[in-house]
This record gives sequence, C-alpha cells and structure tokens, in this order.
Amino acid sequence: MDGLKSIVDLIRSLYHEQEAFIPLHDPRFIGNEKKYLEECIDSNFVSSVGEFVGKFERMCAEYTGSKYAVAAMNGTAALHVALQLCGVKRDDEVITQSLTFIATANAITYTGAKPVFLDVDRETMGLSPDRVERWLAENAEKRGDSAYNKKTGRRIAACVPMHTFGHPVKIDRLAEVLESYNIPLIEDAAESLGSLFRGKHTGTFGRAGILSFNGNKIITTGGGGMILTDDEKLAVKAKHITTQAKVPHAWEYVHDMTGYNYRLTNINAALGCAQMETLDQFIALKRELAFQYREFFKDSEFIFFDELEGCRSNFWLNVIITKDRKRRDEVLEYTNSKGVMTRPIWELMNRLPMYRDYQTDGLENSCWFADRVVNLPSSAYIEGYGKRRAR
Ligand SMILES: *Cc1c(COP(=O)(O)O)cnc(C)c1O
Repeated sequence: MDGLKSIVDLIRSLYHEQEAFIPLHDPRFIGNEKKYLEECIDSNFVSSVGEFVGKFERMCAEYTGSKYAVAAMNGTAALHVALQLCGVKRDDEVITQSLTFIATANAITYTGAKPVFLDVDRETMGLSPDRVERWLAENAEKRGDSAYNKKTGRRIAACVPMHTFGHPVKIDRLAEVLESYNIPLIEDAAESLGSLFRGKHTGTFGRAGILSFNGNKIITTGGGGMILTDDEKLAVKAKHITTQAKVPHAWEYVHDMTGYNYRLTNINAALGCAQMETLDQFIALKRELAFQYREFFKDSEFIFFDELEGCRSNFWLNVIITKDRKRRDEVLEYTNSKGVMTRPIWELMNRLPMYRDYQTDGLENSCWFADRVVNLPSSAYIEGYGKRRAR
C-alpha cells in the first residue's frame, strides 16, 4: 500500500492539512459575497425581482461570450427548459452519453423524450463525434428538416454532449456531424464554466448550452443554473417559460402557456455576482493543483487525465485512471479511510433501473472509464481558508 500512502501524503501536503478531513470539492467565498448579500437584504428584493439577477446574467454572457444568458434555479431546470425551447417533445429521441451525471438523462426524460446513450472518447471522457456519426449512419435518415430513427420511427430531436469534469468534448467535430443531420446541439456545460475549446467557451457551440452553480461546482450560488444562447427569440422565451409564462401587465394575471417556476432568486444571484468576480482566480488555482497532480503521477502506475491539446480545462475535478476496477477500489478504500475524499465516476446511465431499456452503442470506452476513474480532491487551495472557516 506504499504507493497509496504517498497519494494521501501528497494530497495532505497540497492542502497543507495534516489531520482534518479533505473533501472532494467545496466552495470558496473570498470576495464580495457578504457585501452583496447584505445589499440584497437591505434592498428588500430577495426573491424574483432585484438587480442581481440581471447583473449575474450579463456577467455570465460576457464571460462565456454568449449573446444571451438566462438564469434558472438550477442546472437541471436550465437543461429541461433548453431542450424544450429547442423543440424536443414527447416521444422524440435525444442523443447523449451514458457516462454522465444523472441530471443530463433526467432533464431529457422530463420532456417526454427518450435518451439514446452513446459512447465517449478516450481522450476527453465526453460524447464521441465518431460514435455519434456511426450511430447516425446506421440508424438515422433525413426526412424534410428533421432526422428520424429508421428502426423506432422516432424523430431525433437533439444531441446533448457533456463536458466531463471540465474537459471539453471534441465539440467542433460533433457540431459538424450534427449539422449534416440538422440535429440541434445543446451542451451540458454544467461542469465546464471556464473551459475553452480552441479559445471558445464550452456551452456556446450549439443552439443552447447550460451551466450549473450547485454547491460542488467551480462557482456556486447555493443552487443555480444558466441557459446560454445566441438566439434572441430563444432567450426571451427562456425567460418567459422559467417565470410562469406571465404576460407582462401592470396588474392582470394572464399566462399564455404552461410555464415553470424555475427562476433564480435575487439572493442566489447576489452570491453568483461575487463568485463570478473570483472565477479566474479559482481557475488559476485549480490549474496549479492539476499541474501538481500531473507532475506527481508522471512516472507512477496511475494515469493523470489531462486536457486535450488546444483546449483549456477548468480541471473542475481531477482524475486518475487506475489499471482496473480492483485497483480502483483499493485506491478508494485506502484514501477514504484516511480522511481524504475520493470518488469513482457515476454509474453508467444504461445500468440504472429507469434507463436500462434505452438504445446504446457498444459503450466500450464508457465501461473502461467506469472501471478505472478516481476523482481526487480538487477544491481551490487558498491559504488559511479552512482555518478561518473553522474559527
Ligand atoms: C451538476 C450537473 C448538472 C446540473 O446540476 P444542478 O445540481 O441541477 O445545478 C447537470 N449536468 C451535469 C453533468 C452536472 O454535473
């Protein structure tokens, strides 16, 4: 177990923490969070009205280079709405990856559509353009403006790649493949705020993209999400549908469709504004941490999962690859028993009871990762932060 002890020693030294529990990823509040929250409470606008929501949306649009950004109560709700606004309907099919967090598959299912779980690339851990191309060649045909599944007769209404742990999918190739079938691209960029593919921000390559600001993400609003789009009509509709679809009027309560109460509150957005101001600092710290892990694992039995050339990952969660499932379990057991939190990757979607009967391809790479991925502690290290909090 000597190799494993050295991993625990490394992580404890990286966090300058010899005894206390080290979590996988916890938030950092080092900026104007308290100031903005106080402003928010002083203004008395803590709920659906207030200046921070619009400000947070503008900050996210500017940061990502998206023309529009529409806030939502969480990333799952943002994805649900994005799918609906891109025309996904009951009994359609939506292509995604089997190796993802449950929210991706759930959001697709909320629309009544059926997910199709395809394989990921070994270089990115994200949806493979080659696998999508192959699956479409075998299963899809174009009829009019849409692609249909020849076997099931269903419309293939969208494709949702996910940028796993912040590593960008080969999104340019994927966009090309989808374009030739006229299938809308909707990116689940929940984990990749700050990640770039050839200089362009993830979540801005398709018709829409979504971000998450859950407590474990690179920045947090407590809970929150964002819909990114360059399409003005879609942005206006996103705002409408996430706020109960109320027709603007001085006093009448008239609603013109079935909307949702998916709005982000001003309190959450106040946190978001402060967190956005420190995002670049977090990314620099997380990239430094990744550098340390990369160096440490260079000549070891483990492979440090690195960013693709030409991409910038936010290294939201760092990953090592073990030689097999047995070794993965040894690493997990040892590190967790020593108070250093590590985790495996999510169970593949098609292995969960509610998603067992959906279409898949071979999923060779997904199964390979499922057996071997270990996530390492990845919070930004800030001197004295934990101690200040404990006081
Ligand atoms: C976090 C996450 C989401 C959305 O999460 P919320 O907790 O609803 O904000 C969606 N997809 C992926 C891949 C995620 O990691």
